[in-house]
Amino acid sequence: MTASDKIVDFSSLALAPGLLKAIQAMGYEVPTPIQAEAIPPLLEGNDLLGQAQTGTGKTAAFALPLLSRLDNKQKSPQILVLAPTRELALQVAEAFQSYASQLPSFHVLPLYGGQSIGLQLRQLQRNPQVIVGTPGRVMDHLRRKSLTLKGLRSLVLDEADEMLNMGFIEDIEWIFDQAPPERQVALFSATMPDAIRRIARKQLRNPIEIKVKNKTETVTTIDQSHCVVTRHHKMDALTRLLEVESFDGMIIFVRTKTATVEVAGKLEAHGFAAEALNGDMNQTMRERTVKRLKAGQLDIIVATDVAARGLDVERISHVVNYDIPNDPESYVHRIGRTGRAGRTGKALLFVQPRERGLLKAIERTTRQPIPAINLPTADDLSEHRIDRFVDMLRETLSEQDLDFYYRLVSRIEKEQETSALDIAAALTFLSQKTRPFIVDELEKPVRKGRNERQERSTEKSDFGKRPKKTSHKRDNSVPFETYRLEVGEKHEASPREIVGAIANEAGLDGQMIGRIDIREDHSLVELPVGMPKDIYQHLRRVFVRGQRLDLHLSEETPSNERQSRKKGKGKKKRKKEKS
Ligand code: AMP
Repeated sequence: MTASDKIVDFSSLALAPGLLKAIQAMGYEVPTPIQAEAIPPLLEGNDLLGQAQTGTGKTAAFALPLLSRLDNKQKSPQILVLAPTRELALQVAEAFQSYASQLPSFHVLPLYGGQSIGLQLRQLQRNPQVIVGTPGRVMDHLRRKSLTLKGLRSLVLDEADEMLNMGFIEDIEWIFDQAPPERQVALFSATMPDAIRRIARKQLRNPIEIKVKNKTETVTTIDQSHCVVTRHHKMDALTRLLEVESFDGMIIFVRTKTATVEVAGKLEAHGFAAEALNGDMNQTMRERTVKRLKAGQLDIIVATDVAARGLDVERISHVVNYDIPNDPESYVHRIGRTGRAGRTGKALLFVQPRERGLLKAIERTTRQPIPAINLPTADDLSEHRIDRFVDMLRETLSEQDLDFYYRLVSRIEKEQETSALDIAAALTFLSQKTRPFIVDELEKPVRKGRNERQERSTEKSDFGKRPKKTSHKRDNSVPFETYRLEVGEKHEASPREIVGAIANEAGLDGQMIGRIDIREDHSLVELPVGMPKDIYQHLRRVFVRGQRLDLHLSEETPSNERQSRKKGKGKKKRKKEKS
């Protein structure tokens, strides 16, 4: 039995209440194995030697207990995290910021090479409690005496083996010497080469050793595959796969409760019968959802590990690991939800470029390679859509009574002096507007080592996905109706943002959006008549400038000018956008 089996709940760990609140808001349900094992000894002030990969939740495993031990009165830095790269330093600093979001006057400062020293000097004066830095730049500040480790309580080495590979070992030893001897040390490394063991022997006092265990398990009846995809392409990747793959029941695993709702909502908007299953739902609600899946009223459940525990539904033909599990054992449990009752099942794993280490750990645990598959290309998707369209036509031609329509087309031919072929082409065009036959190619997965922070920041934006056309002309041939959106001038929304959000989220061409009138607390926008229900429901839930659009049909009419009431520069800019 591991600590993770015993502890099922963050609240049973003695973390500061503000931290518990923050992780709850982030949707974490239970500690990952490394967290369950590392948090208690770190809270007690022990040193720790942890063998764990990125993706196991190791950042929270050290951040949460160390933050719990902060002294509110102390002005000088109390926690120093050393990380091998700027990207990791930024990520860890961001994680600290999120975990400490409920703590009063908390500051975390990333210090890395390449950023202006002057700026860092100013930021150091704000008395950050936590410094996350690359060894070179931290040394630099220590030498300049702009940073002191005199009051340091904890020192963390993150990805120590990477620091070793990058030749930072001597710098690290030097930094250790600047910290008080009684500091607490946590050292995390994916592998434990001798040089790291040596540092551990020299710098750590009676460390608790933790290794995320790799139990050997084999899973043979399930057809497994993985695909490397960046965070902000996951949803596109998923919908593409769902479109071409035939499945019966599906369970999609994500990391957080928030993600269950988000992913299920997006799938619903794409027309899939999907629902979330998470620990916020009471037992009756959960049972109802599972029943609906069994009965075929639902095809997809989006769940966290905890909520899906023990789920046994024969019709689950597919398991998708939308977020890679934090440890290999969870992977084995997750994919065991398919291939029930002697059936064969399929399991697909999304791996972000930086999570490749975790994929390797899963392969070691299951003792079999998980082959890579390619996402359906734009051409595959086009072909699939056209094939389906042709099937539908064939079926309609053979099964429907079309007399009235033959007469109607003949009439249009005559009246419009056009050919049946022209009419068929126009109808074909209209039929594919919400799901076009010509599909954009997804960007290739990022190269290894690309700045993941950029990825994150794009993802945060509602309009980050493909705002290729920011300017658009109104398509005068389309009949419009006016919708009211609950975002306006006081929220500083611009027409560009509104057009971008609607175009991206509804899959509409910019030209299909009519006039926009931004008023004080709401906006009016013209959209093509007859918006499909699923798109309408989806758009209602889209946020612009932190406001839910909550759109609904309105009797009001947008002013003729396509502009907001903002004066001056904004007005001009917007006019230009619309021209
Ligand atoms: P890390 O290994 O620290 O890079 O964490 C990997 C991912 O797991 C991050 O996206 C974290 O936000 C997420 N994560 C960490 N702990 C938990 C948890 N207890 N439950 C759900 N997600 C978590």
